[in-house]
Amino acid sequence: MKTIGLIGGMSWESTVTYYEVVNEVVKERLGGLNSAKVLLYSVNFEEIEKRQASGDWDECAEILGTAAQNLEKAGADFIIICTNTMHKVAPQMQEMIHIPIIHIAEATADELKKKEIKKVALLGTKYTMTQDFYRGKLVETGLEVLIPDEEGVAMINDVIFNELCLGVLKEESKAAFVKEIEKLAEQGAEGVILGCTEIGLLIKQEDVKIPVFDTTMIHATKAAEMALEG
Ligand code: GLU
Repeated sequence: MKTIGLIGGMSWESTVTYYEVVNEVVKERLGGLNSAKVLLYSVNFEEIEKRQASGDWDECAEILGTAAQNLEKAGADFIIICTNTMHKVAPQMQEMIHIPIIHIAEATADELKKKEIKKVALLGTKYTMTQDFYRGKLVETGLEVLIPDEEGVAMINDVIFNELCLGVLKEESKAAFVKEIEKLAEQGAEGVILGCTEIGLLIKQEDVKIPVFDTTMIHATKAAEMALEG
């Protein structure tokens, strides 16, 4: 079995899910007392979020790239960045290491393709929803990506940083997210990407009519499958 290198803590609320899912998948596939081989480098999210907000992405790349180097030195076979947003600096991080980074948007695009989805709604941080580093990856594969209007983008971003990343789950925020998803479904979205690793804590498949693609579940499952291929 290969060793998974997780870069987590962004936020730790969703890193918990990654740790659970990789172990659940290995347990299910191999049975017995089998569990995933995992190295976890969990950062202080306050230090990262400050730099996101001030636009110091190169510093983010340096911090996360150094974490990736440490995981490589410790024996990780590949890297999983446990956040959608920080894939913005994945290309810079990749240049700092010799093991692959498994991209969350690529893993998600593969799942959408399997389900023959062509037009998809994307929810995430404002960076993920509006910048090209993430949407571009999806568009490259032929997908049409719909995002909420400006007000919707601001609301979702606010809830992510001020509630979900702090482990706060509110019914009114859930209702507001469902409303945004319904609006995008009316515009033709055939599925919705939960493109922030904490959204799956709030929104479940049973809350909405269109298929839900939870990036945390997809990415963590992919990590476990890759580990088992070894
Ligand atoms: N976990 C979130 C994501 O998947 C947001 C936190 C961050 O900005 O990294 O994008």
